[in-house]
Amino acid sequence: MFDVIALGECLIDFTPTGKSEAGVPLYSQNPGGAPANVLAMLSRLGHRTAFIGKVGKDSFGYFLKETLGKAGIDCRGLLLDERYLTSLAFVTLDARGDRAFLFYRDKGADTMLDESEIDKDMILDASIFHFGSVSMTSMPSRTATVHMAEYAKANGLIVSFDPNYRPFLWESPQLAKSEIESVLHLCDIVKVSDEEMALISGEDDLEKGSEIIAEMGPSIVIVTLGPLGAFVRAGSYTASFNAFDVRTIDTTGAGDAFYGAFLSRITRMGYCSAEMLGKIPEGCIADAMIFANAAGSLATASYGAIPAMPSIDEIEHCMKEVKELRSI
Ligand code: ADP
Repeated sequence: MFDVIALGECLIDFTPTGKSEAGVPLYSQNPGGAPANVLAMLSRLGHRTAFIGKVGKDSFGYFLKETLGKAGIDCRGLLLDERYLTSLAFVTLDARGDRAFLFYRDKGADTMLDESEIDKDMILDASIFHFGSVSMTSMPSRTATVHMAEYAKANGLIVSFDPNYRPFLWESPQLAKSEIESVLHLCDIVKVSDEEMALISGEDDLEKGSEIIAEMGPSIVIVTLGPLGAFVRAGSYTASFNAFDVRTIDTTGAGDAFYGAFLSRITRMGYCSAEMLGKIPEGCIADAMIFANAAGSLATASYGAIPAMPSIDEIEHCMKEVKELRSI
């Protein structure tokens, strides 16, 4: 039995690390993919997790499978396909010195996951199904993602969604918006950034934007706000919670740490079904938000995503001892 099963992209993020002695740019090879990062946080907190996705049968694919396995994630559902290459993303600096992303993902293995290849029994064996929208940018993984979310919903799992909107992976913002909206009726919990909330709802205001999203289906809507913490709506209850004042050096994976920690906390409190989620007391939501902010903030104090996921002791210490950043 898995606490959480996630379906999605798994790829390599190459991030710049300066120049070699010969003066050429150097990059470091980081495992990437938000759904797997969320699982890594959950595994770090002692949950049983499993991943469904596809990588190439190449050295990058082997590296990713090994990395996820070492993070404690069950990888039986991670396929290695010799017909396709593992997708790559390079973080580069453009002419003005701004960060830009360069994707090598045309027919990338992660986009070539076909629903016929998925062992659906693994989904039946889980309490929560988690997914994002990066696996919805291309076929056939778009269909696989949507159909597995429908399958999870039909079989009574909690369905959890973090769109992780990446504009450069979509033909247009309109297409992204309509694809994201098309799955919201399946979802019980949704975590968005403020930009994603504005894209989906057409609203910048947290109260109004979260209400519009909640009306589309999910009983819990979380909006993360970087150093400003996060906002939550559960029915008519809304509240904002601060981030913590840590020494931030790299925000990669902060949202995934936050969200994995939130899912961990509510399931540990015993809210393990979609029906129960609609009845969580406000105090439990508030507790989970504080816990999640501590995890998200701590993840910004180390480099990378998976290696930066904090332990339960670190999170509890942060909640007790570290002061909060300014309120919203
Ligand atoms: P995402 O990566 O999904 O865009 P955010 O950047 O909003 O997510 O960050 C998620 C969470 O991580 C925030 O809600 C907050 O708890 C924490 N966080 C992010 N940036 C900082 C920061 N600079 N200082 C402290 N905490 C942060």
